[in-house]
Amino acid sequence: MIEIKHLAKTFSNHEIFNDINLKVNTGEILAIIGPSGSGKSTLLRCLNLLEKPDEGEVTIGDSHFTAPNISKKQAVGIRQESTMVFQQFNLFRQKTAWQNVAENLITVKKVNKVAAKQRALEELDKVGLGAYANFYPGQLSGGQKQRVAIARSLATDSKILLLDEPTSALDSELVGEVLTTLRAVVENHPDYTVILVSHELEFVKEVATKVIFFESGQIIESGTPEEVLNNPQQARTQRFLSRFTQQAIAQ
Ligand code: ADP
Ligand code: MG
Repeated sequence: MIEIKHLAKTFSNHEIFNDINLKVNTGEILAIIGPSGSGKSTLLRCLNLLEKPDEGEVTIGDSHFTAPNISKKQAVGIRQESTMVFQQFNLFRQKTAWQNVAENLITVKKVNKVAAKQRALEELDKVGLGAYANFYPGQLSGGQKQRVAIARSLATDSKILLLDEPTSALDSELVGEVLTTLRAVVENHPDYTVILVSHELEFVKEVATKVIFFESGQIIESGTPEEVLNNPQQARTQRFLSRFTQQAIAQ
């Protein structure tokens, strides 16, 4: 479960958002769509304290904080509740696929190296990369790198998954393999709570339980995928979707 109340973030006089409220229940998949620069990544990063929010309350699983007075203990707790998949994969270049997956287990969870490697190999197998365990990121395609990053998230055993445009850095022919992997992840883990920032609208329609259209730091519209994507009520959502569809057709 994720609950956000009155969340606010400013970067040196530039207000990104100032009163975000939302709740994602266990088992729900919330998709956020919206133009570039609207604050979607900042919102996700505030949830796991990769960015420090200025104000607001966040509850994730069993952890909670009220900004800006966040204790070290709260920060450690909140970081362990969720796991994030980034647009740019964020793998260690000098570590192999299995070492990337095992890193958090060894350094944070203090799992011994043999057990951590075993677990990493199992997770790589699940994303179809068992044969690539000893490859370095530089030897993998973008789609494979993102699947390693997904395996890394699965290895944390976190039930709260934050996906920040997981396919938007990929060449179009590599998008499908990552979406297939993500589809399997959500199908196999109905107990996960997921926030997915993505413009893969067909995928969003298929997996999301709720969709938010986010623009200029505001939740403009929210509802079921059917409501927001097929029958948007707000002019700003309509404009975004029609521009977006035209671009997709032009590509
Ligand atoms: P989105 O993910 O929707 O594209 P972002 O959350 O990345 O949007 O960015 C929202 C705004 O915040 C942008 O104007 C961006 O330039 C700004 N921004 C993001 N991160 C930082 C940062 N670390 N320092 C200053 N400004 C930032
Ligand atoms: Mg972003």
